[in-house]
Amino acid sequence: MTPGRMMDFPLTLTHLLDRARRLFPRTEIVSRQPDGTLHRQTWKDTYERSCKLAHALARLGVKDGDRVATLAWNHNRHLEAYYAVPMMGAIVHTLNLRLHPTEIGYIARHAEDAAILVDRSLLPLLNQFVASVPSVRQVIVMADDGPTPEGMLDYERLLEPEAIEYDWPRLDENAAATICYTSGTTGNPKGVVYSHRSNVLHALVSSLPDEAALSNRDAVLPVVPMFHANCWGFAHMAAAVGCKLVFPGPKLDPESLLDLMAGEGVTIAAGVPTIWIGILAQLDAHPKRWDLSRLRQMNVGGAAAPPSMIEGFEKRHGLFVLHAWGMTETNPVGTMARLKQDVADASPEERMSYRASQGYPLPFFETRHTDDQGRVLPWDGATMGELECRGPWVAASYLGDEGKDRWSADGWFKTGDVVTIDAAGYVRITDRSKDVIKSGGEWISSVALENALMSHPCVLEAAVFAGRHPKWDERPIAAIVWKKDKRATEAELTQHIAGDFAKFWMPDAYVFVEQIPRTSTGKFLKTRLRETYGAMLEGRPKKT
Ligand code: ADP
Repeated sequence: MTPGRMMDFPLTLTHLLDRARRLFPRTEIVSRQPDGTLHRQTWKDTYERSCKLAHALARLGVKDGDRVATLAWNHNRHLEAYYAVPMMGAIVHTLNLRLHPTEIGYIARHAEDAAILVDRSLLPLLNQFVASVPSVRQVIVMADDGPTPEGMLDYERLLEPEAIEYDWPRLDENAAATICYTSGTTGNPKGVVYSHRSNVLHALVSSLPDEAALSNRDAVLPVVPMFHANCWGFAHMAAAVGCKLVFPGPKLDPESLLDLMAGEGVTIAAGVPTIWIGILAQLDAHPKRWDLSRLRQMNVGGAAAPPSMIEGFEKRHGLFVLHAWGMTETNPVGTMARLKQDVADASPEERMSYRASQGYPLPFFETRHTDDQGRVLPWDGATMGELECRGPWVAASYLGDEGKDRWSADGWFKTGDVVTIDAAGYVRITDRSKDVIKSGGEWISSVALENALMSHPCVLEAAVFAGRHPKWDERPIAAIVWKKDKRATEAELTQHIAGDFAKFWMPDAYVFVEQIPRTSTGKFLKTRLRETYGAMLEGRPKKT
C-alpha cells in the first residue's frame, strides 16, 4: 500500500463542541425547567460550562476511562455532561430513569459508575438504588428547585469557581465516549460503548440532506430522551451543524410539546410513535391552536410508524413525517425512509409504502438479511429473514463481552428484527423476533396488522400479540385503545382490515384497554400484553 498523505486528525466530540462555540456562539440551547419556565444559554455558554464541569470533575478525581453516569431529563446540564465527560477522556453513561430502581442499580454496578449527575426531582429514584452501587464516589445534584441534601454535591456550586477554558487532551478517536444500555427485554441489559469516532461519523452522516437533513438554520427538539439510544445522535448533530436545540425537560405531554414547538419555532422534532400518536390526536382536536408553520419535519423511530399516522399529519395538518430505524447497538440510526429518485414517480400508495417502510441504509451502514441457517437472502421485497448490519457505528461487542451470539461468524450484528429487503434496498420490518406470531407454522406480521387497525377511524392505538392456541400454537390477539368518544364493533374492525390480508391473519380476539402498556422508552410493551391476555384462547374449541 502506498500511504495517502493526509493528516491523521482524530474524529472527536471535542472538535464538534469547540467549533460550535467558535462559529455559532450565539445560537441558543433552550431548556424547559421543571417549573415550566425556559432557561436559555448559547453554544458558547455550553462550551464554557463544559470546561467548568470538566475542571470540577477532575478536582473530584474523575480520571481517564472513568464512568460518569447521568440520571436526568433532557436539558442544558445534561448536554454539558454529554460533552465535558468524554472530552476529558472519561465516559458518560446515561441511565434510563424509567427503569425499575433494581434494574438501574444493576446497570450502574455493571458499568462501575464512579459518579452520578442527577436531577433533583429524581433523587427519590436515586435513593432507591445508589447504596447498592459501591463504585459511586460522588453524587452531584442538578437542582433548580431546592437545596442539595447533605453528603451530595451541588452542580452549580461545583462549577462556580472553575475556569471557562480547559486544556482538553488530544484523544484517540477510538476512545470510548458514551455508554448506553440496551433495554434488556431479553436477558440482562447490555452495555453498548460508543466511541468518539462512532458518534462523530454517525452525527455527520445522519445530518445529510437525504437523511435527517439538519442545517445551521434548524431548531431541533429531541423529545427522545437523552438516555434513550444516545438521544438518536441529536446532541451531536446539533453541535456539528451549529443549530438551536430545544429541550423539553420532564414535561412530555402533547400540549406542552406543542406549546414548545410553536413558541420556539422548532423546525425538526424527534420521538417514538406513541408521542406522535398523542400529538396527532391533540392537533385533530384543536387544529388551529398552534402555529407550526416552521415545523418542517418530525423524525419518528424506535418502533414502526403507522402509515395512517404519517398520512394523518400530512393530509390534515400539512406536516411531514420522516420514518427512521435504529437500535441502541447502532449509535442508533441505520436506515431512513426518504423517497429515492428512482421511486419518485411511483403511485401515491407505493410512495406511502416506501415512506412507511424502515427505509434504506445510510452511507457506511450495510444491511443484509439471513435465514435460520445464516444464509444470505435475496433483496426481493418478499423473503423474510433476520436483519443483520455492520458499519463504523455498529457495536462490535458488548461491555464485558456478554451476548457474543449476537454477532455472526463473519462479524455482522444480528438485530433480532425480522424483515424483507426490496430491490431498491428499502427494509421493511415485519416483527421483532420476540414478537413474531407463528400460527400453524406460518408467520403473521403483528406490525402489518397494527398498522391496518390503526387506520380505522375509531382506533387510537393497536398492538397485536400472540395468544397461545390449542390447535395453531399461536393466534393473533389485538389490543385496542379507542379514540376519545369513538367505538366500533369487533366485526367492523375485522371487516376494515380483511381486504388486506389472508383470512388466517385475522385476529382471533380483541381486548379493549385504556392504554397499551409502554416500555421504558415509550414503545408498546407486547410482552406484558402476552402475560396478561396470552392464555385467553387456550380454552377455545379447536377450530378446523
Ligand atoms: P428497546 O429494546 O428499548 O426498544 P432500542 O431502542 O435499541 O431498545 O430498540 C431497537 C429496536 O426497536 C429495533 O431492533 C426494532 O425492533 C425497533 N425499532 C426501531 N426503529 C423502528 C422502526 N422505525 N420501525 C419498527 N421497529 C423499530
